Amino acid sequence: MAFFKKFLQEFKEFALRGNVMDLAIGVIIGAAFQAIINSLVNDVLSPLIGLVAQTDLSYLVLTLNGVDIKYGAFLTAVINFIIMVFVIFLLVKGMNALGSLGKKKEAPAAPTTKKCIYCFSEIDINALRCPHCTSEFILKESIEEDQHEEL
Ligand SMILES: [Zn+2]
Repeated sequence: MAFFKKFLQEFKEFALRGNVMDLAIGVIIGAAFQAIINSLVNDVLSPLIGLVAQTDLSYLVLTLNGVDIKYGAFLTAVINFIIMVFVIFLLVKGMNALGSLGKKKEAPAAPTTKKCIYCFSEIDINALRCPHCTSEFILKESIEEDQHEEL
């Protein structure tokens, strides 16, 4: 009886492990997702591509000594695989775009430095004198005041 109880305990621990549930959910969602992808490829995209190009090549059969080499079916499988990968790529791209839709684009940080107009060194935005070449900057406002005085 003690053995059975321990067995049950172990089973409970196994079944309730977080990753087991995650895995189960992943498999179930994956199966549902696969149905959507399959339908999109087989019911929508393949017929659309079929309008302009041959996608079903399964009629291509090579017979060697009475043995059928169905290389056409293989090529069809490869083509369907490529279409499916392309669809998944587009879906992932779309999901990523949706995911970043709500996020506001980060406003670029206000500049904290400016370039000295004489020596082109990076200096503090509020500096009135360049620490590198010691050139003095005239404030924009003071220039405007000067112009008013001249008029
Ligand atoms: Zn300078």
